[in-house]
Amino acid sequence: MKFCSECGASIAASGRPSATPPARYRCSGCGVTHFRNPRIVACCIAEWQGQVLLCRRAIEPSFGLWTLPGGYVEASEPIQQAAAREALEEAMATVDELALFRVYNLPKYNEVITVFRGTLRDGRCAVGEETSEVALFPRRDLPWDTLAFESTRAALHDYATRRWQPVHASPVEDLTWLQPPPVATRRAPPPTRTATGQAAGRGAG
Ligand SMILES: [Zn+2]
Repeated sequence: MKFCSECGASIAASGRPSATPPARYRCSGCGVTHFRNPRIVACCIAEWQGQVLLCRRAIEPSFGLWTLPGGYVEASEPIQQAAAREALEEAMATVDELALFRVYNLPKYNEVITVFRGTLRDGRCAVGEETSEVALFPRRDLPWDTLAFESTRAALHDYATRRWQPVHASPVEDLTWLQPPPVATRRAPPPTRTATGQAAGRGAG
């Protein structure tokens, strides 16, 4: 990020006091701190009679390799709904009874990957967006040598090896009734410097 999305001023990196990466970026013009939150990915393990639905990617990265249907969660979209949407878009598949299977943190990618598991309705699937081929793979015959991502491998490995263990994952709940706090009409000014050079005003974020 080079310019502030609030005021257009250039942004200087300002490390947190601990200097623990990643740094947050603070606008020198309006004082807004720009957080670099992880992107959330929702993936879908769609089962049908002991088989798993996989998609062959028609786009880069990992063109031509197999992956679970999945993608970034849209703004205000429940993640389980995102998993179902991606299955529909990429594999023309309707998945029922979606339940949270695993969550993976990928700090070096600044991503959090959520994997849901459900049943493919009627076993139907077809080539969709960003996909050149779809297929149902038996759990014991997954295409380990041609998987698109290491996160795909991790999820399928967990699925193939621990499938029969009880799943204690919490259900995903939608707090749709929860209202965000009112937006402040005026932002606090950036901290000013005192004669000794110490920052005054709010504490370090
Ligand atoms: Zn600004």
